[in-house]
Amino acid sequence: MNSTKSGTPEPLVQVADLKKHFLMGTGFLRSRLRVRAVDGVSFDIARGETLGLVGESGCGKSTVGRVVIRLVEPTNGTVRISGKDISQLDNTGMRAVRKTVQIIFQDPYSSLNPRMTAGRIVGEPLQLYGLAKGEELADRVSALFERVGLSPDRVHDYPHEFSGGQRQRLGIARALALQPELIVCDEPVSALDMSIQAQVVNLLMDLQNEYGLSYLFIAHDLAVVQHVSHRIAVMYLGRIVELTDKRTLFRSPAHPYTEALLAAVPVPDPRNKPTKRIILGGDVPSPISPPPGCHFHPRCPYAMERCKVEIPTLREVAPGHIVSCHLHDGTNARAAERRAGDLTRSSQPGIQS
Ligand code: SF4
Repeated sequence: MNSTKSGTPEPLVQVADLKKHFLMGTGFLRSRLRVRAVDGVSFDIARGETLGLVGESGCGKSTVGRVVIRLVEPTNGTVRISGKDISQLDNTGMRAVRKTVQIIFQDPYSSLNPRMTAGRIVGEPLQLYGLAKGEELADRVSALFERVGLSPDRVHDYPHEFSGGQRQRLGIARALALQPELIVCDEPVSALDMSIQAQVVNLLMDLQNEYGLSYLFIAHDLAVVQHVSHRIAVMYLGRIVELTDKRTLFRSPAHPYTEALLAAVPVPDPRNKPTKRIILGGDVPSPISPPPGCHFHPRCPYAMERCKVEIPTLREVAPGHIVSCHLHDGTNARAAERRAGDLTRSSQPGIQS
């Protein structure tokens, strides 16, 4: 295993200042309408680690997942897998990398070819890479079916003959076929019933323990992300606004947007909610013309004048805990105190903003 200069193991994934801008419109308009889907995102994922990536729909989290495995080309920035900058690789180099990085999609039905049998779908990556054929291929497909909890008797069935949860298991089996190191899980359970969600999430966690997999787990459901993740990054309008370990994020969120997301998570006893009840007004602004300064300022209860013009930088407020908010740059003591007071009072029932 490679190590950094400090002797710590090199992360499997290193993402630095990643940007993906889409040009919209036609002709003259096309050069002016730029959707900043991902706008300067950086994070690492260690081997065997799950990094949760959360945010409202449209915040750019799925685009991050696609750019990380180069299903979509980045506009700027680097993605290193095992130290190798994959944005510089040609087709031959990418073919080797694709063996080690896989993706599981939200909708297992639309991501599985309806004209292929389940066995062919799962075995196709092995065939494409020339890793197995004939009897060996059949054996390996059967083993993959069993590993994800499907009966090998069903290799001749078609995707529409499986339930939603079983189809997601097929997607997982196909992703596992090439023995990857990283799997991008893009909302893998949000289309499933609650009881099935738990089964699929537990399967993913078992597979991680068994094979040492790393996951980039993308979801809008904080309860699911809390269950599977070691660390969690919160995204808002194309940028990461907070990143820390899951315990710290849930106990001591530092960004007002994280507080708002946490306040919306249902808990059995509302009196135990640790955060202030922030009700977010409005929708996520358009990434075509995001608000200046802090993108969150039109919805933030603590917004100050400088928030409207000055983009907050990501800073480390505690070891491994990074936040992008002017409340944490040490120059806004009164605003920070007001927020801290709100959080303290919110531990009493009935106090809402
Ligand atoms: Fe709110 Fe300002 Fe912090 Fe943005 S920088 S989250 S507007 S306090």
